[in-house]
Amino acid sequence: MTSTTASHAADLVAALLFILSLAGLSQHRTSRAGVVYGIAGMALALVATVVVAAQSISAGAVALILIAMAIGAVLGIWRARKVEMTEMPELIAVLHSFVGLAAVLVGWNSYLEVEAHGAAQTAVGADLLGIHHAEVFIGIFIGAVTFTGSIVAFLKLSARIASRPLVLPGKNLLNLGALGAFVALTVWFTVSPNLGLMIAVTVLALLLGWHLVASIGGGDMPVVVSMLNSYSGWAAAAAGFLLDNNLLIVTGALVGSSGAYLSYIMCKAMNRSFISVIAGGFGIEAPSGGDQEQGEHREIRAQEAAELLSRAGSVVITPGYGMAVAQAQHPVAELTRRLRERGVEVRFGVHPVAGRLPGHMNVLLAEAKVPYDIVLEMDEINDDFSDTTVVLVIGANDTVNPAATEDPTSPIAGMPVLKVWEAEHVVVFKRSMASGYAGVQNPLFFRENSSMLFGDAKQSVEDILRALDADAPDEAANRRPTAVGR
Ligand code: NDP
Repeated sequence: MTSTTASHAADLVAALLFILSLAGLSQHRTSRAGVVYGIAGMALALVATVVVAAQSISAGAVALILIAMAIGAVLGIWRARKVEMTEMPELIAVLHSFVGLAAVLVGWNSYLEVEAHGAAQTAVGADLLGIHHAEVFIGIFIGAVTFTGSIVAFLKLSARIASRPLVLPGKNLLNLGALGAFVALTVWFTVSPNLGLMIAVTVLALLLGWHLVASIGGGDMPVVVSMLNSYSGWAAAAAGFLLDNNLLIVTGALVGSSGAYLSYIMCKAMNRSFISVIAGGFGIEAPSGGDQEQGEHREIRAQEAAELLSRAGSVVITPGYGMAVAQAQHPVAELTRRLRERGVEVRFGVHPVAGRLPGHMNVLLAEAKVPYDIVLEMDEINDDFSDTTVVLVIGANDTVNPAATEDPTSPIAGMPVLKVWEAEHVVVFKRSMASGYAGVQNPLFFRENSSMLFGDAKQSVEDILRALDADAPDEAANRRPTAVGR
């Protein structure tokens, strides 16, 4: 077998492993296997790429590649071990920005190489020069949009800048104008390539990426993360064309199309227009939903909440980002167990975008060993709130905000939410009256049947567990040491 055939075979196997990885990642049970397939595919792709490259470049250049890989591996392992679960989306946004930046650099390198040596001396060949120039422009454009878009997403997700949408006058026209200018510049560049046009398209795309994501509100950020995932895939595919690397084209197309499909599913689940979100909130006017407080709120203490729970027939727990921040999942699981022992029906209602990454709450509840069969999706639980005695809203805010269904001017209008306010009593666990990620005040807090239990969610749940113990000392004495105080 020649080295070229071996490298094509390795590409094919790696591509198959990536497809198996995507299939595995689509279900909880097979997700670990999906990760292993992905690692195996990437390892094979890296080895094959370096082996093929080593045949046409100097030993020094190979050493440089290996050093770069080692530095990347050390940094990657260090970050992956250090990152908190709540910081995952911002880490993903940073990684997407690297893919975008790489595509921009590959595009520039490709242009400069042809300029320096002439098309005939490079892999491009004189016949395909026009196509090559278009590829350079498209690669740089997608890469630069992905780069600055991901940086803005990182800044918003890590709360370094406000999550509310930027609304520049004529923002839709600005976006459309930038797209029109890109098409015109591409045609011009294929006819008459020059450095000025390269700089122009790079700056244009950097500004467009920044504006597209800055224009999207906090409530739509989950879709933006998956959309940038898709853009990073297309940026990688564009780089694959320029580098003549089939595996990069296949992998980029897999990431690009699966990310686009995920964005589409999330838009449907959140009742958002797919086109509007990918076009930077196209067609959405400046939101006018107020973030002012809307009346008086009632407070409740842990002792009273415990009494309410002891008398309840059915309880639904709706966890959100605050449960992850407080790491309250273990005491919450313990509370669930104790209430069930007392004959209370306890179930969980999980919103598709609760927390900061898809499946965030499910992972935390599974870690705390909450039985799968009592953890229900929003659509499965939403009709049951009217028959529920107590809802415990643990660190959730936007995902239980009635303004989404009742106030058409709200920035989150139309987003399906958990209808917790239909229950007899709602206890909201949070530290203050602050708004959620979307920056929208929540009328739930001011409803007649709502009470605020202020404090860190973990501490509050542990206080309730202690109050329940005090209420039933015999039960507490028989119990083994519990998760309280963990
Ligand atoms: P929110 O972000 O709306 O609200 C979380 C609440 O938790 C806050 O109001 C905060 O209030 C409270 N909180 C924080 N820390 C603690 C703590 N230690 N103890 C008690 N409470 C705490 O959460 P949701 O899960 O309801 O909604 C998720 C939001 O994030 C949505 O807007 C979604 O669109 C967005 N998003 C989701 C992503 C995903 O993929 N799931 C990705 C990116 C964004 P206080 O400060 O007063 O305590």
